Amino acid sequence: MASGTWTGRQIPAVSQYPLQAEAMAAPGIPPPLTPEAAGTVSGGGSGEPKQLPELIRLKRDGGHLSEADIRDFVHAVMDGSAQDTQIGAMLMAIRLQGMDLEETSVLTQALADSGQQLEWPKAWHQQLVDKHSTGGVGDKVSLVLAPALAACGCKVPMISGRGLGHTGGTLDKLESIPGFNVTQSPEQILLLLEEVGCCIVGQSEKLVPADGILYAARDVTATVDSIPLITASILSKKVVEGLSTLVVDVKFGGAAVFPDQEQARELAKTLVSTGVGLGLRVAAALTAMDDPLGRSVGHTLEVEEALLCLDGAGPPDLRDLVIRLGGAILWLSGQAETQDQGAARVAAALDDGSALHRFQLMLSAQGVDPGLARALCSGSPTQRRQLLPHAREQEELLAPADGTVEHVLALPLARVLHELGAGRSRAGQPIRPGVGAELLVDVGQWLYRGTPWLRVHLDGPALSGQQRRALQGALVLSDRAPFKAPSPFAELVLPPTFAQP
Ligand code: URA
Repeated sequence: MASGTWTGRQIPAVSQYPLQAEAMAAPGIPPPLTPEAAGTVSGGGSGEPKQLPELIRLKRDGGHLSEADIRDFVHAVMDGSAQDTQIGAMLMAIRLQGMDLEETSVLTQALADSGQQLEWPKAWHQQLVDKHSTGGVGDKVSLVLAPALAACGCKVPMISGRGLGHTGGTLDKLESIPGFNVTQSPEQILLLLEEVGCCIVGQSEKLVPADGILYAARDVTATVDSIPLITASILSKKVVEGLSTLVVDVKFGGAAVFPDQEQARELAKTLVSTGVGLGLRVAAALTAMDDPLGRSVGHTLEVEEALLCLDGAGPPDLRDLVIRLGGAILWLSGQAETQDQGAARVAAALDDGSALHRFQLMLSAQGVDPGLARALCSGSPTQRRQLLPHAREQEELLAPADGTVEHVLALPLARVLHELGAGRSRAGQPIRPGVGAELLVDVGQWLYRGTPWLRVHLDGPALSGQQRRALQGALVLSDRAPFKAPSPFAELVLPPTFAQP
C-alpha cells in the first residue's frame, strides 16, 4: 500500500511506528494489541464470551475486565446490540470502580479500532503532533495552536470534540464560521496535511465512532469525570491520528472537570503512562481553569479572539498558553532543543503572520468561501464581527462595589451562557453561535463601582433577575492592591525518558 493511503480497520504494522516498538519494551506497560486481537469482536480471549449484564456486574463489583470483555462491550456499542441503559450502566460501573492501566489501554485501543486508522508518509513521523484539552471555558487554544504549529513545519491532524457539559467545543466554535466543515474523509485529511499542514475535524462514522457514542452517553449519565474514560476518549482519537507527540492540556480548578489539582495530576499521569504504552509520546500540562481563558466566551466571540491572537495580539493569558504548549510540543517531538526555543518559534509564527496565513488556508480548505476566509483573516475586529453571526442584543453588567478583581468565576458564567443557548442539553441540539460574553476587565485590575465589567451577547429576552444575580456572583472583588494575573500554566508532567531542561 502506498504511504498516505487509508486502511480501514487494519492496525498499522509496529515497524512503521518506532515509538510503538520502543514502548513495547518498557517494563510494566502492556504491549499494543495484535492485529488478530483487534479484529476479534466476540469472545476473543480464553473462555466463553460473557453477556453484557455479566460484564456490567463484573465491573460493578470491582472486577477486572479482560481484553476480550472490553472488546465485546465496545463491539456491542458499535453494532447496536447494547441498549442505552446498558451503556450507561457500564459507564457508571467504570466511573465508580475505575480501571487499571491495562484495562484503560485496552479500552483506548478498542475505541480507536472502531473506525479507520489514519496513515501518513513515513517521512512525516516526527512532525506529526497534536494538543488536546480536557475542556475549559473560553478555551480557544486549538484554533490558534494548530495553525501556529503548521507554520513551524508540523503536521497537525487534530480530531477535536464538541462541547461537553458546561465547556465549549472546538468544533462548535469553528462551525460558527459560515461554511466550515468539520466532517472530512481520511483522504481529505491527508490532502489538508499536505497542503495546509493542519486540520481540525470531528470524530465521525469513520473516525473513532465508538468514542462518539460513549462521549455523548457520558455527557448525560454523570460519567464525564472518570480518569479511565477521559483517558480512553482522548487517546483513542490520538492513536487513530498516528502521532509522534501529544500534549494534553489537563485543566484543574472551579470550572474544570477536576477542581482539585491532585486529581488532575492523577489524570495527567494516567494519560502519559497509557499514551507511552500505546506508542505515543505524551506529556500533560496542568493549567488553571478558575477564570475563563482570555476575555471572550461563546462561539463566534472566541473565533474573533483567536484571530486576535493569530494577529500577534489578544489577551496575554491566551497567548502565554498557546506559546508554552506549542514550545513543549516542539521540544518533545525533537523539533526544538528546549521548550523555550520551541516557545520562541511559536511566538514568532504568531507575530510574523505565518500562523494566521495557515489559519486562512485551513478555513478555505475546510469549506469556507476563500473570499470570506481572506476577509476574516485580514479584517479589523469590527469588520470581523460583521462577517460572523452575532447575537441580536447586548447587555452590560456594572461592578456593584469598588475593589480589585480577584476572579471572574468561569463556572457560573458558563452556566448562564449555556441557558442562553451557547451550549447543548441534549446531543445534536442546535446552539446559538453568537451568544456569549466579553469580559471588560482583567483579573488583578482595580475596578470602581458602576464600571461595566461584563458585556453579555444574547438572542432571546433580557437577562432574568436570577441570571443577573448569578453573573454578578461571578465577579469576585477584594480590597488588596492590584496585581498581575498569574499564568494559568502550572506544571508539565513528562514521559519517563524526558527530564525538564
Ligand atoms: N476531550 C475528549 O475528547 N474526551 C473527554 O472525555 C474529555 C475531553
